[in-house]
Amino acid sequence: MAPPLTALLLPALAALLPVPAAARAPPRSIAVVGAGLGGSSVAYFLQQHFGPQVQLDVYEQGGVGGRLATVTVNKQQYESRAASIHALSLHMQDFVKTLGLRQRREVPGKSAVFSGEHFVLEETDWYLLNLFRLWWHYGISFLRLQMWVEEVMEKFMRIYKYQAHGYAFSSLEELLRSLGGEAFINMTQRSVAEALLEVGVTQRFVDDVIAAVLRSSYGQSVLVPAFAGAMSLAGAQGSTWAVEGGNKLVCSGLLKLTKANVIHGRVTGVSLHSSEGRALYQVHYTSSEGQGSAFYDMVVVSTALHPSRSNFSFQNFEPPIDNFPGTFQPSVTSVVHGYLNSSYFGFPDPKLFPFASILTTDTPALFFNAMDNICPVNISAGFRRKQPQEAAVWRVLSQQPLDKQQLKTLFKSYYSVQVTEWPSHPRYDSTKSLPPIVLHENLFYLSGVEWVASSMEMIAVAAKNVALLAYNRWYQDLEKIDQKDLMHKVKTEL
Ligand SMILES: Cc1cc2nc3c(=O)[nH]c(=O)nc-3n(C[C@H](O)[C@H](O)[C@H](O)COP(=O)(O)OP(=O)(O)OC[C@H]3O[C@@H](n4cnc5c(N)ncnc54)[C@H](O)[C@@H]3O)c2cc1C
Repeated sequence: MAPPLTALLLPALAALLPVPAAARAPPRSIAVVGAGLGGSSVAYFLQQHFGPQVQLDVYEQGGVGGRLATVTVNKQQYESRAASIHALSLHMQDFVKTLGLRQRREVPGKSAVFSGEHFVLEETDWYLLNLFRLWWHYGISFLRLQMWVEEVMEKFMRIYKYQAHGYAFSSLEELLRSLGGEAFINMTQRSVAEALLEVGVTQRFVDDVIAAVLRSSYGQSVLVPAFAGAMSLAGAQGSTWAVEGGNKLVCSGLLKLTKANVIHGRVTGVSLHSSEGRALYQVHYTSSEGQGSAFYDMVVVSTALHPSRSNFSFQNFEPPIDNFPGTFQPSVTSVVHGYLNSSYFGFPDPKLFPFASILTTDTPALFFNAMDNICPVNISAGFRRKQPQEAAVWRVLSQQPLDKQQLKTLFKSYYSVQVTEWPSHPRYDSTKSLPPIVLHENLFYLSGVEWVASSMEMIAVAAKNVALLAYNRWYQDLEKIDQKDLMHKVKTEL
């Protein structure tokens, strides 16, 4: 007997109807390019959302951790790059807790700002004296700065609520707008100096203090955008912490937890194909075994797509995907084990040199941006910071590698110098445009957030956003993307 007509028609009709969101299978495989904090945290968040059955391949051309790295001096490890984490970094705190890691005890040490000839500002052991000095030199500028930074941070912290409710943003502009309205977008376009002068901070405070903080964090001047400046000033004002054993443990820990397949190779490009009407991405790479490629339903690029940083090509995309404008700031970290030349700083007797951290003003003749007497990544209960008359480990940040004469200026003598040269942060004066997050249907760009501000927590926030965005787009949950008036929405949601 012939089947009834409805039996023939129903499957055909069903195929035409949209698949209910919940019925759609998760992606089979996802590629992440880069195993720095961005790559490892996005792998972790993607797995949290899509579930453990998704195959996660993470491509890394260097060491896991990227800019979170250590160097070994005298059998002990020291942070050579990103060292300190702001107290309010909630994702970083969460990673440390989830991975069973510990926050490293902070070893107190005083800071000062050096002009090349003398110290323009010196911290003392007495809180009230520090306040008095600030007031004496700069009036209430430091209070105005504090209020400005607190206001930015308070608004920025909204992101954690939005993310806890599953909301994502498809562009950096939408993300910023939802946190602080047009004012936050403007903060990516105008300089931190301009923004601070407008709220009544004096030019002298900007020149002595703000410049010193920005030189030490970004190696750049007070012309960096106000938002990036605020994030860096927040780190300098509040208490900070680090991960016991090294910040890079977060990256290796997250990759291990997700059981991601780390492929040691350099990704050379991504090409677009399609399968069953869906985009399919082919990732091309070179490794010690030669050239290879693999297909994925989704790709997250977690390394800078700027000409100075990547040789990366995208094929078959229409419109084409190019590198984004902007260059990176060269920065050199020299980890020096030796005896400080305290005379250079005006202290002939090294025993009397009181500072563990020396920041600098924007003086053309100065050949370094900042230097710190650093502690190892593992701190025992009885640990004490090395005194300036002892051989200590100093981390010197500069724009150019230090030559012999410059090293001799800073150190009486030294046992070792380990140098890392790195295009470290975006050069904020090289472009004002913010890169996109969505490059194609299921192809995302994470690292563009560094053009808003460059820090570990900023990258973790961006990683969570990309994972939520990828998930909401995959399941067509458009109500969770780029929603307006989110503060009100999250208050009224259960
Ligand atoms: C000197 C210095 C000091 C800093 N200090 C601080 C600080 O105190 N506090 C703070 O919060 N932040 C600090 N930062 C910023 C912080 O390090 C970065 O924001 C953060 O580590 C960026 O992580 P990421 O994963 O986005 O990038 P990265 O760590 O750069 O990771 C990108 C990874 O991608 C890999 N990769 C690149 N291209 C390819 C390719 N084609 N194929 C495969 N792999 C590729 C790279 O090898 C790298 O491992 C500092 C940075 C520097 C350089």
